[in-house]
Amino acid sequence: MANSIERALESALVDCFHIGQILVRKTNNDGFVLCHRDDHAREDLQTFWNTEDAVDIAKYDDAGNYRPLKTAPNLQHSWRMELGTWEELKCALDYFYPGRLAAFVAWKSGQLRTTSLRETLNRQSGMYRVAAKISDTQIDDLVADFCRSSGGCLRTILWKRDPYGTVASTKLPKEKFDPAYDQGEASSQPGSSAFAEAPADKSNLATATIPLLCQEPCNLLVAECRKVVKGE
Ligand code: SF4
Repeated sequence: MANSIERALESALVDCFHIGQILVRKTNNDGFVLCHRDDHAREDLQTFWNTEDAVDIAKYDDAGNYRPLKTAPNLQHSWRMELGTWEELKCALDYFYPGRLAAFVAWKSGQLRTTSLRETLNRQSGMYRVAAKISDTQIDDLVADFCRSSGGCLRTILWKRDPYGTVASTKLPKEKFDPAYDQGEASSQPGSSAFAEAPADKSNLATATIPLLCQEPCNLLVAECRKVVKGE
């Protein structure tokens, strides 16, 4: 798996690529520079050199609030990270977006398994068992709000609502389910998404995107389903 992740990164990295809200650029000495994609033109960023620093950067948003969902579009600004090797790059990206590189590689090789929301809810126990009582109408509204790229989560949804293949929410744009779209660009455009392959960077380089894939509903969404059923 480790080598396949490196190969996937290498194929994505022509000059630079986006993953979530991060811009990764290759340097002349075969190293890498990472920063928030909004900050690519800034020269007043604080520089970090250790992959472990990504843990702290990813932990809090700009206002200092804890980020329970690492793929929420609230990654803090004002930092840059200089890394020397592929191994360090892979490690840092896994701190920023845990498990997402492995999911991407599994998806590229056709081996990513998905689990529907209804299956996930039906296997809950204890205080979360009641979440399975959520109606389809409530799922439509909740997923459209909680998982939306603008203000919710930057992952591309691959899971279905139920084992019959029903779309997760009829109220999300179709791009939210398409790994070819850049949800990071979409996060600033409510209700829409942008193409993953686009000359978005001001340096006029084509910027590829590695999508953050969501293969099964997360615990936070399950907790929200429970709240909806309980009327909280
Ligand atoms: S279910 Fe997936 S897309 Fe929705 S908030 Fe959780 S991680 Fe993000």
